[in-house]
Amino acid sequence: MELKEALGKIYNEAKEKFDIQNTPKLHLKEDEENAQGIFGKTAYYNPTDMSIVLYITNRHDKDICRSFAHELVHHHQNERGDLELGDASQATYAQDDPHMRKMEMEAYLKGNLLFRDWEDWFKNYKQTNQNGKTIIKRKIPRISRN
Ligand SMILES: [Zn+2]
Repeated sequence: MELKEALGKIYNEAKEKFDIQNTPKLHLKEDEENAQGIFGKTAYYNPTDMSIVLYITNRHDKDICRSFAHELVHHHQNERGDLELGDASQATYAQDDPHMRKMEMEAYLKGNLLFRDWEDWFKNYKQTNQNGKTIIKRKIPRISRN
C-alpha cells in the first residue's frame, strides 16, 4: 500500500474513533538536512491552523504513519479544547508543563494503539475475493473508545 493511501485510511479510522469534526491540513515535507541528525524533526501539529506536518525524507512509511496517528490525537485534543489548557511555548513543555505532559502521554498511547489496531485489522480481518474486491470480514474491534 502506498503511503498516501495508508494515511487516508488511518485518518478515516481516527475520524470515526475520535469523532473528529474538522479535517486537518496535511503537509508531507521533504527535508534532507533535517533527516541527517538523530534529533531531526519527525512531525508536528499546529493547533492554530489545524495542520499536521510530517517529515518524510529517509523514513520508513510505517514510522511516518505512526507519527501521523500521534498528531491526529493532538488534533483531537485541540478540537476538545484541551491544548489551550497547557503552555507549549517552552521547549521542555512535555516535561515541565503537567497538562502538556498528559497530552503527550495520551497522544503516544492512543496514537500508537490506533495505528496498531488498524494494521492488525488490515492484515487479519480485511480480505479480498478472487476478483480483488474487498470483503470486510470483521470490523476493527472497538473494545472501547479509548
Ligand atoms: Zn506529541
